[in-house]
This record gives sequence, C-alpha cells and structure tokens, in this order.
Amino acid sequence: MTAVDEGRGSAHVQRLLVVEDEPRAQRLLKANLEPAGFALRLVGTGEEALAAFSEWAPDLILLDLMLPGMSGLEVLARIRETSDVPVIIVSAKDQVADKVAGLHLGADDYLVKPYAIEELLARIDAVSRRQKGASPGLRQVGAITLDLRHHRVEVEGREVVLSRTEYELLALLGRHVNRVVVADALLSEVWGPEYRGEYGILHVTMSRLRKKLGKAGKTQIVTRPGVGYVLREGQADWAEGGEELSVGESE
Ligand code: CA
Repeated sequence: MTAVDEGRGSAHVQRLLVVEDEPRAQRLLKANLEPAGFALRLVGTGEEALAAFSEWAPDLILLDLMLPGMSGLEVLARIRETSDVPVIIVSAKDQVADKVAGLHLGADDYLVKPYAIEELLARIDAVSRRQKGASPGLRQVGAITLDLRHHRVEVEGREVVLSRTEYELLALLGRHVNRVVVADALLSEVWGPEYRGEYGILHVTMSRLRKKLGKAGKTQIVTRPGVGYVLREGQADWAEGGEELSVGESE
C-alpha cells in the first residue's frame, strides 16, 4: 500500500485510473502521480478502461477523449450508466465540442492538453472536495447520518423515523452544515413561500425533530434567536461557550 494524502486534500481520491494512449503522457503521469501518493492504474484504450473500472473501482478517472477504438466520450457514457465516480476529461485544444459533450455526459471537470501536472493535481483536489461536499448519497454530520437518496436518518447507527416535514427540515439544514439557515428560508422551502412568517409552525416542528434525534438534536441543531437554525457538525458544548458562527456565509 502507498501512503496517501499528504495534506493535498485528496483523501478521498486514492485510486486513480488514468486512460491515456500516448506513451509519453503515460510516463509523465506515472512519474508524477505515484510520488504524490496515488495508487495508479494506466490503460490505453476505452475497453481496458471499462474493464479496469468495474474490476478495480477507482476513486477518480482521468479520461483522455481521443483514444484508439472506443472514444473517451463513449467510455464516459458507459461509466455514467452505473456510477457517479468523479471523471476529469482531457481534450486537445481543438476539441471544444468534445469537451462540451463530455461535460453534458457528466464529466466533473476537464483539462486541455498540454497541461501542467500541478494543474491536474489542483483539479483532482477540487473535484475531490466537491464530491465530498456534494455527494448525493450519504452525509455524515456528527452523530447524524443523512441518507439523502432514500430519505433515511440515523443517529449513531440507529434509524430515526421522521415525518416528511421533519425530514425536509433536517435535510435542508444538512445541505448547509455549520451555517445559519434563516427561518423564512426553511418555511419557504419546506412548507411553501406562503408560509413565510409562520414561525410557530417551524418552532413546533423543529422541537419535534430535535426530540426525535435525542442528544444529537439537542447539541447539533442550534437556534439563532430571531434568525434561524444551524446544524452543527460537532457535538461539543460550544453552544454555551458562544462560539462565533459564520452567519450568512454563502456557498
Ligand atoms: Ca489520446
């Protein structure tokens, strides 16, 4: 096993599948990515890429679009049928249409040849961070696990059954972890725009939600009086300590 992630922020990308048919580019990538801590698999055709994808389950794919035989776009389309693994496509300067098609097919980012290794590493970091923050599936917030795909909630591994509005409140807060979501935004999103100002409904539902979540509800959901609510990642006793919050911080 290789040591992984030396503060690059790529803790979630360890296995990197590189699809590249040019030997010189292959050598360059191998010489630079392995020392950076990635486990690397290099393939030169789309068919090999699909085989390596299903057998090896890479964390990220660097995909050249111009390949002999099956094109990179076709590879991407096939992968997207079953997986949302991050894919960075690589295109030549005159392949703008391919680049756009690749993004439409669900590529996460793209690089234009020739590119510097540092740029590639930066893109891997960025995609990895986005993936971590925007995963459509499971989200762990302190003791609370949000399964956004199946609308399930667990606290320390125990399922908590929530009503639709309770779940939606929690999911909304969970999309803005550690940030204040203002009361009117919660009302508007969960109940509808006409409910702005109906703070009584919000408070009642919120207190039910907190109760169901137990200790996590008490310590992780924090009221900002007159403003809104915050779902905190940590369960520390910060609420009493008056820790500063990044109020109104945008995406
Ligand atoms: Ca190529």
